Amino acid sequence: MAKRKRVSVTPVSVTLLILALAGMFVLGVFVGKNMSGGHKVDKSILLVNESHPLSRDYVPDSLVNLYEKRHSFRLSRSDIYLTYETYLAAQQMFAAAESEDVNGFYITSGYRSYERQQEVYAESKPGYAQKPGCSEHQTGLCFDVTAENVGGFETTRQYDWLRLNAHKYGFIQRYPVDKSHITGISYEPWHYRYVGIDAATYMTAHGLTLEEYLGQ
Ligand SMILES: [Zn+2]
Repeated sequence: MAKRKRVSVTPVSVTLLILALAGMFVLGVFVGKNMSGGHKVDKSILLVNESHPLSRDYVPDSLVNLYEKRHSFRLSRSDIYLTYETYLAAQQMFAAAESEDVNGFYITSGYRSYERQQEVYAESKPGYAQKPGCSEHQTGLCFDVTAENVGGFETTRQYDWLRLNAHKYGFIQRYPVDKSHITGISYEPWHYRYVGIDAATYMTAHGLTLEEYLGQ
């Protein structure tokens, strides 16, 4: 008759097993979709693109006319609007640039209503403008900026300054040169989007677009 093998279950091995399972669980939570390298992904950040359009009646809260506010930048028109939070962050950013003797930024565009985007879309060649609802400008959280120069904005020191510093004020370059296959939009060196300092710093450090950051 075969001798029955007994597996001894000691309190120590049970404790080790529980600790191992708990460790795997904690690791799973931290490396899971909400955490990446200690950074908590802010899922509340608004994503707008062709697959995530805004409704016709979406109008952001607290839009302010930049012309009526203190600003350390120039405006190409008197009717450019941003959300108050975006304006404050932009003002801090351009004031910091000014203190480092980098001046001459022109904001050329901010909030654009659904109806205005309809007109832009109708007036543009195919592929040159976003469909109504699909433009990030409807969020009031982004602006287009340029500087007086002969070449493109990306050849200016203003552009270099933004590339190095924008994330410190919560902005990202939304449509980088090598990410159009992800954003669906070709390189726009002039378009900056407010996402908050933590998210902007993380995305900039890791070279992520907003789509990649949000896992979309
Ligand atoms: Zn833009």
